[in-house]
Amino acid sequence: VLGCMAERLKDKLLDEEKMVDVVVGPDAYRDLPNLVSAAEDGNKGVNTFLSREETYADIAPVRLNSNGVTAFISIMRGCDNMCSFCVVPFTRGRERSRDPHSIVKEAQDLFDQGYREVTLLGQNVDSFKWSPEENNKARLNKKEESVSEVINFANLLEMVALVDPKLRVRFSTSHPKDITDEVLYTMKKYENICKYIHLPVQSGNSRVLDLMNRTYDREWYLERVSKIREILGESCGISSDMITGFCTETEEEHQDTLTMMDIVKYDFSYMFYYSERPGTLAAKKYEDDIPLEVKKRRLSEIIYKQSKL
Ligand code: SF4
Repeated sequence: VLGCMAERLKDKLLDEEKMVDVVVGPDAYRDLPNLVSAAEDGNKGVNTFLSREETYADIAPVRLNSNGVTAFISIMRGCDNMCSFCVVPFTRGRERSRDPHSIVKEAQDLFDQGYREVTLLGQNVDSFKWSPEENNKARLNKKEESVSEVINFANLLEMVALVDPKLRVRFSTSHPKDITDEVLYTMKKYENICKYIHLPVQSGNSRVLDLMNRTYDREWYLERVSKIREILGESCGISSDMITGFCTETEEEHQDTLTMMDIVKYDFSYMFYYSERPGTLAAKKYEDDIPLEVKKRRLSEIIYKQSKL
């Protein structure tokens, strides 16, 4: 079993269920040959260590079952946000940005193989940040005095867009607190950067957003949407993620999510009712107190609203 769920379920898989031989967390794939060999010798192969440095920058993925046209490129790993409902910070570890030159090389190689669209992937692409010093510091674990150029997400977007005008560039996911005007102007500058932003709102109500620890409020989110419209125009696609029935959400607060949808006019949304994840801040701090039928009714209301936008 590999990946972040392996990290979370390792005790259950190994001790209780006794049904797997190899458990590998998301930062331990380089250790796979050793772990498989340990399992072949009759031992358990386990490594769920979460790294602060691993980005797999030098490993080019083999793309099986690809259509040969579109591909995903991982640009960072982990997440430093602490949204109270989310298990990612605990299972995928701290945020690390990949060397941008290895990202551009992967995009160029894909283009040379005939791919014409890449999607830059990260939990929070807008906080992409890389500098040679930081990279060296992490690797060599020593202090460096010199300061050199920091490459942020807008810079990276431009570098990938410049690979070739015939390469369409997409990215996901943007965090409303982090998406900058510089990113929006870079999108405007290059025709081959698709005018589409996945900007998860999660809730349209500021009190619920605060409980979710999203670190923005309704007004901040709406200001970011206005900026997108101002710089990229009405035709820029915006999509979202939403959760109904988060702990203590009232009917009025649920209405705020519906009015948010009316204002932004999302092109698409991933919609869910809240279900508690063990180990998250919300599971520790808040009671999951909205009855299931209420959560489901609120979810059906936002799904209906989305279908009418
Ligand atoms: Fe990070 Fe996204 Fe999870 Fe928030 S919801 S903690 S931004 S992965």
